[in-house]
Amino acid sequence: MSLRKFLRQMELEKQVLHVKDDVSTRFELSYMMKSFDNRGAILLFEKVKGYNTKVVANVCGSRNRIYTALAASQNEFYKKLTEAWHFPKKPKIVRNSAVKEVFENDLSKIPILTHFEKDAGPYITSAVVHAKSLDGNVENVSIHRLQVLDKKHLAIRLVPRHLFKLWQAAKNAGKDLDVSISIGVHPAIMLAASSPVPFGVSEFEVANALMNEKLHLIECEHVNACAPAEAELVLEGRISIEKEVDEGPFVDITGTYDIVRKQPVVEIVGVMHRKDYFYQALLPSGAEHKLLMGLPHEVLIWEAVSKVVPKVHAVNLSIGGSGWLHAVVSIEKQLDGDGKNALLAAFAAHPSLKHAVVVDSDIDVFDASDVEWAVATRFQANEDLIIINNVRGSTLDSSADQETGLTTKMGLDATRPFAKPKEKFERAKIPTNKHVEALVNKLCSL
Ligand code: MN
Repeated sequence: MSLRKFLRQMELEKQVLHVKDDVSTRFELSYMMKSFDNRGAILLFEKVKGYNTKVVANVCGSRNRIYTALAASQNEFYKKLTEAWHFPKKPKIVRNSAVKEVFENDLSKIPILTHFEKDAGPYITSAVVHAKSLDGNVENVSIHRLQVLDKKHLAIRLVPRHLFKLWQAAKNAGKDLDVSISIGVHPAIMLAASSPVPFGVSEFEVANALMNEKLHLIECEHVNACAPAEAELVLEGRISIEKEVDEGPFVDITGTYDIVRKQPVVEIVGVMHRKDYFYQALLPSGAEHKLLMGLPHEVLIWEAVSKVVPKVHAVNLSIGGSGWLHAVVSIEKQLDGDGKNALLAAFAAHPSLKHAVVVDSDIDVFDASDVEWAVATRFQANEDLIIINNVRGSTLDSSADQETGLTTKMGLDATRPFAKPKEKFERAKIPTNKHVEALVNKLCSL
């Protein structure tokens, strides 16, 4: 399963907008991506100023498109993802692959975007990085931003997680860390690489489980790492254990600038790609960024809240909350107080969560007005509000204490109180029939 096959499917579903005019990689592409953010369409830039390569953007830019890529409905999606986390499947390694059609040796022909005004320069934002431990027992796949330093070097942002751990181990052994950097892969691989599975679980195996065992990998030519055989473009590199540079400034998920840090340098030792490859662009702080980071954490919240209330209907880490800081959870409660337990479970499942609202199952968690209506008619601040002071939150939140990471969390139980009469909380309905429904549909399709 490849990105291009998915794009063909999306083309048939009329979800691809073709941009046939010349567009520059410096601000023009990102401006257009931003303009179409939240409107759903995939953008295919056919003419990029100064390059012969097409650029595809906003591939995972809508929730429904990610569900479609996994051939799952919203409810199946939660189950499918947890199953893949718990039962990863080893992908097959193959020899031949279209990504080996062209070999180059530097980054100069790749249309890498410069996104925002104060960015340090062009950045690769959609790359899936694979590395192995020196003994080969542990593999890791994760998405990292990569700043272009020159034709052969990138700075890599290593958050202290799994790839950082592999790099630290390499450092202790005195060896640079081999990595493959794959760009233009199927959404299932992007989602697997964003999944919070424990150290030691290979996210390629998670992706393979999500793809019904259709993920094939190739061994790289110059480094000890693997890459998806159907990737559009693969860079081979080594993360230096000595060279560090200033990385940033660059925009993070909330749309504000992250601080500049010393980060390691990747030396590029090989570039391979399909003859007619697409370069995949991903806008930092765009809907796609929020969905890829948020969706796997919705699943964590769904699992945790499911343990404390009879049924969870849906979870939304909302786009307005940057896909990270705000959650709405709809539940079926059995007793008063269940709503607050649901809030506590949600906070425990996703430590970055700052504000959470719990609603009944008749509220659409994806409709902000509906959620507001629940807060307006079912919530009393003196009874239904919980505030937790001085807890660890996300440093991505500019209002949190940037040094200690401490923040204040707020939970709103906007479920209907059982102690009060049910009828007072029911939404009035209008009786309907086939005739009026057909009339509405006809008018809507005009
Ligand atoms: Mn990992």
